[in-house]
Parts: sequence; structure tokens; C-alpha cells
Amino acid sequence: MVAQINFPLIAGLVGVYFFSVIFTVLQTRAAKSERYKQYRLYTPVNDPLANTSKVPRTFFIILFIACIWTAYLTQGYDWVIHDEPSAFAVLPVQILAVLLIYDFMFYWVHRVFHLPLLMRYVHYVHHKVRFPTAIDDYYLHPIDTLWVTTLFFLSVTIVGPFNTTTFIATLFVWVFMNNSIHGGLNLPNPVFRLTNYLARMHNVHHGKNMSSNFGSFFPFWDMLFGTHHRSKKEHYGQIN
Ligand SMILES: [Zn+2]
Ligand SMILES: [Zn+2]
Repeated sequence: MVAQINFPLIAGLVGVYFFSVIFTVLQTRAAKSERYKQYRLYTPVNDPLANTSKVPRTFFIILFIACIWTAYLTQGYDWVIHDEPSAFAVLPVQILAVLLIYDFMFYWVHRVFHLPLLMRYVHYVHHKVRFPTAIDDYYLHPIDTLWVTTLFFLSVTIVGPFNTTTFIATLFVWVFMNNSIHGGLNLPNPVFRLTNYLARMHNVHHGKNMSSNFGSFFPFWDMLFGTHHRSKKEHYGQIN
């Protein structure tokens, strides 16, 4: 339990939370705009799931995430946070370790949720989306939301504990990468190489081949377990 209120942690969490919401809105607007239309991975001819119909669920899931995080960090504070200073040099190693462990667990749990029963009652919600834009990061069944958030908390528990700054930095990277996988854009500037890659890989999972690319961030697990589907140029364009 929290012995005393950690205000920098609360400020960091609120900052990452609102960054995520604003980043999602901006990415979604860019993907839908005429200006970036040429960079859309898939241009839907007919999208039965317009963004406006996604708003109530998205709003609920964003609030639900805030509740889950509050519960985890009040009950499991000592597992993930310590007050000791941490060497700046270890931060990239810690972040990479969290992302690798998270993505490995995500791969398998995600694959299990593609079994017929779980797909029929839970994961189908997310797969109603065939042409992802950033808002679809939150177009989830609450059970999907719960296990995704739990896997991150488990990963930081395994690698941690972290001091407050490194924990917020790790959370920020995880949120940024998660918000990028549904970006739906393949932008020409090399600055966007990573986000383009994440969006291309996950786009395949929503569109061309739902039985592939179960990992979120790295191709390794899909390559290792035979479910990797490379996103090729000819996979972009207009589809029904
Ligand atoms: Zn899936
Ligand atoms: Zn998705």
C-alpha cells in the first residue's frame, strides 16, 4: 500500500493518460483527413464502423483503464515503485526488457483469445475494426482491456521495481507504441519509421490475415511460432 501519496507519480500518470488521449485524437483526425489520405494503409470503400459509433465504447474503455490503473497502483505499489535513485543508463535496458516480456505474454494471450469461444464472446469486438485508426486502440471488450493492462503490470512487476521517473518513462513508451499500432498511416518521413512499421504489421492482423501478427511490438514471437505475415506494399490501398 502507498505509505504516503507519491505526487510525482500521480502527475506522471495523469500526463501520460492525457498525452494518450490527445495523441489518439490527433492521429485519428490525421488518418481521416484529405491531407493524409494518400498515406492511409487501407482506404475503406465502405466502413460500416464509422468513428462516431465508436465514441461511447471508447469513452467507457478510457475511463475503465483509469480505474484499473488506480486499483493496480494502490494495491501493488510496492511491487513496481521504489524510492531509490536509478542510473539513467539502465533505463533503456529496463524499457526493452518490459516491452519484450510484455510482447511475449501478449502474443500468447492474444492467440488464445483467437480461439473460437473467446473470439465469439470477447475479442470479436476489436476485430469488428477492419480499417484501424488510432481510436481503435480503445475499441475493445472490457475483458480485452483488463488482460492487456494486467500484462503490462505483470511485466513491470517482473522487471521492476522502478523509481517513479523510470516507471513513468516506461509507461510512456508502452502507451506510445500501443497508440501507434492502430495509426493506419504509412508516412514518408523517416522519423515515422517505427510507427509506420507498427501500424503496418498490426494492419495485417485486422485486414488481410487475422491468424497472423499476434505480437504488438516485435516480429520475433510471430517469426518463432510461425505466424509472421510480412506487410508488403501491395497490401496497401483501397479494399472493401
Ligand atoms: Zn486479434
Ligand atoms: Zn488491433
